[in-house]
Amino acid sequence: MCGPGGVGKGTITAGLVRELGSVKLSRSWTTRPRRVGESEDAYVFVSRLEFLRAVDDGKFLEWAEYLGNLYGTPAPDPTDGDDLILEIDLQGAQMIKENYPESLVIAIEPPSLVELGVRMRRRGDSEEHVADRLAIAEREIAIARGLADQVVVNEDPIQAVSAVASIISKERSLRRPLT
Ligand code: 5GP
Repeated sequence: MCGPGGVGKGTITAGLVRELGSVKLSRSWTTRPRRVGESEDAYVFVSRLEFLRAVDDGKFLEWAEYLGNLYGTPAPDPTDGDDLILEIDLQGAQMIKENYPESLVIAIEPPSLVELGVRMRRRGDSEEHVADRLAIAEREIAIARGLADQVVVNEDPIQAVSAVASIISKERSLRRPLT
């Protein structure tokens, strides 16, 4: 799942884990400092040195730099058949689609850029970050429309969870082996 920071990907993925069976949420690594009030396990918070060492060790499925911080998806344990949900930025989604073309990319969009700014401020992003992130978001939304298999507008988190859950369920039924 990709989409600009603040669009509500975290809320949607948490809802998906509750609503759909057999899914796991990947826990990313980041060099970004933890936000005030952010849960300790939102990410594996590491130093830049630790992160770059992990890159050299081939630990990540994909990684990207976003506004000066590094973010990466650790390679999952050998699969137990569950679907793995990645909550990543556009660069990460591009890398994943290239290396794992069978992946399903769902782009989450805000109802508008104004509303996205409101959500960023509500979660505590500083004013300077909001301006930078909105400029990035506008470009990324346009590119994501070309990359994504599906686009969901997050007007309301409950509806967005059910829209994404039904996309995944449909995809699962299309991919199930014929018996
Ligand atoms: P934030 O700092 O707001 O938590 O995240 C900034 C951006 O990085 C968001 O778009 C978020 O989805 C993305 N992100 C989080 N984890 C990863 C990751 O492992 N890989 C990539 N490529 N992006 C990530």
